[in-house]
Amino acid sequence: MIISYHSWKEYGECPKKYFLKYRKKAPYSVPRNDYHALYGKLVERFFQHFCNTWRFTMPYMPVEEIKYKLTSLYRIVLDTSTVDWTAPFITASQEDIFNQAFGDVNAIMNSLSQNYFLNTKSEVSIEVAVQSGAQLTCRLDFVHKKAVGDHLTIFDGKGSMTIGKNVEDDQVLFYALMYYFHYKRLADEIGYFYYRFNTYKPVPISLSILNEFRAKLSLRVKEMVADSTFTATPSAKACKYCEYRLSCIEGMESKAKRKRPSKLDIVEQEGITEIGM
Ligand code: SF4
Repeated sequence: MIISYHSWKEYGECPKKYFLKYRKKAPYSVPRNDYHALYGKLVERFFQHFCNTWRFTMPYMPVEEIKYKLTSLYRIVLDTSTVDWTAPFITASQEDIFNQAFGDVNAIMNSLSQNYFLNTKSEVSIEVAVQSGAQLTCRLDFVHKKAVGDHLTIFDGKGSMTIGKNVEDDQVLFYALMYYFHYKRLADEIGYFYYRFNTYKPVPISLSILNEFRAKLSLRVKEMVADSTFTATPSAKACKYCEYRLSCIEGMESKAKRKRPSKLDIVEQEGITEIGM
């Protein structure tokens, strides 16, 4: 059984969702729309190119080259994504997203952050076999080593509109633990880099924090290996963006129970007749 951070997290939210998505690979009941992922995918691909290829030929990238590279990467991102541009939540056009990404990348490349990416590797894959029979796997967005000395930072890039929103310490702790398992090296720093804000936010790390996370990880991995029922555990958090929410009875029943009664419902329940006077 292969377990990534995302499958581990989703099992923790709802075993049924995990089972449908990662084991059964069932088709989603909610139509797929990658609109919200376009910006992140584009910027991520840009830094992957800069960190793993470009920086070895030139320590900076001229603005024309940034635009040229982003344009060709955007074509790939659009070709490999499914976007319904008529969906009601769409607020930016295809061009708006490109311009936002170009502006943000340009700002990063013209700031001190650019030096940081000069000593950074992107998309580092690690696989670790654990005793329970599972195989843990991850792909680290960035591994930074200072040019001088041995200082190591593991960080993940985020395209979030708000710093910290829907971001959990567990994700970078998972990556740091995987790095520790594989290279026997504790990262000196871990954190998140927010592209839209050109800002790095650290997450606390120490051997005791990592050991605490390791215990939590291991407990859930054992549950995942032993589980045979994958019972649904609906909640507002688990169901809100669940790809199976339109066909899941448990999720729909739970949502109906959570729904606050309207004034009309209360009036009807109490047998009160309201007269507009
Ligand atoms: S809709 Fe909710 S209960 Fe149903 S599978 Fe998704 S997360 Fe689980």
